[in-house]
Amino acid sequence: MKYRHLGKTGIRVSELSFGSWVTFHTQADVKLALNMMAAAYEAGVNFFDNAEVYASGKSEEVMGDAFKKLKWRRGSYLVSTKFYWGLHDGINEKNTLNRKRLIEGINGSLERLQLDYVDLVYCHRPDPTTPIEETVWAMHNIVEWGKALYWGTSEWSAAEITQAIEIAERHHLHKPVVEQPQYNMFERKRMEGDYVRFYKEHNYGSTIWSPLASGLLSGKYQNGIPKDSRGALKGYDWLKDRLTNETSLAKVAALEPIAKELGCKLSQLALAWCLKNPFVSTVITGASRVEQVHENMKAAEVVDKITPEIMDRIDVIFGVKKNEDDD
Ligand code: NDP
Repeated sequence: MKYRHLGKTGIRVSELSFGSWVTFHTQADVKLALNMMAAAYEAGVNFFDNAEVYASGKSEEVMGDAFKKLKWRRGSYLVSTKFYWGLHDGINEKNTLNRKRLIEGINGSLERLQLDYVDLVYCHRPDPTTPIEETVWAMHNIVEWGKALYWGTSEWSAAEITQAIEIAERHHLHKPVVEQPQYNMFERKRMEGDYVRFYKEHNYGSTIWSPLASGLLSGKYQNGIPKDSRGALKGYDWLKDRLTNETSLAKVAALEPIAKELGCKLSQLALAWCLKNPFVSTVITGASRVEQVHENMKAAEVVDKITPEIMDRIDVIFGVKKNEDDD
């Protein structure tokens, strides 16, 4: 496993990390979660991603119980949580980054995770109804109090992050240092769009999510929705259309010869492809079983096999570049 600096911070994150969205509590009990985390950790993963809203707090409870049982040295791993959607419907408790909610949020997360601090805390989405200044001060205080060591954003625009950085600089507060955007072969809008100039200027970190587009890029949906997959889960109907979209499935099929040439699985090609982007600090992987973790961790070995020519072929498949033979 290789490690990359998290933007311009002094900490280094494993190129592949491990997250709990959808899986923990819903698909994985503490025992399975623990086994998957152990498989990742043994492969060199040092960052575990979570959020308050995942399984309504239960995902943090599962990860907290797993940490307790695993008894890893606290200095040997990084853990995160995120706030925005909240756990209750109260007027000040959902879809917000107000000060009260953020501070109550971090206290609740630390209790569920059974930790004294998290390493990274994210604003899970931007909140246009709370002044950014209020959010920046609250995040600064969370860091000052030692409840989190660094703070960041998730799916904020470059303009919003720049505003937060400017407010922090003006008041000598802790600045956000990392963004958590979606990034995979299908979803490139931000990482290859408005973030490029911003990342260059600020050397911001990025912990990217859904690298397999919820499993679509593993090729498992080529013949319908497998019974034991995310696409078959109750409550995830909104995903089904995306996982069975014919245009998307044709693109995945077109990747197969490339994976074959490289002697790897489609999932490994898709994960390794994310790592070719120099602005990615870590690719957060997800899994519902230990075998997937083993398979995914080997993606790190594929990165150097992806030549510029293969990157171009992938761009042609995804319509980002034209095939020069078509001219
Ligand atoms: P992926 O797109 O990689 O999807 C992971 C899912 O794909 C697994 O749970 C599994 O689902 C399937 N899968 C994984 N590996 C394989 C394999 N080798 N072969 C076949 N199927 C496989 O990532 P996630 O969408 O889970 O996102 C990763 C992490 O990113 C999350 O856990 C979370 O920490 C973070 N995240 C952050 C968000 C944000 O807003 N900041 C939003 C979403 C995620 P199954 O077996 O059930 O089909």
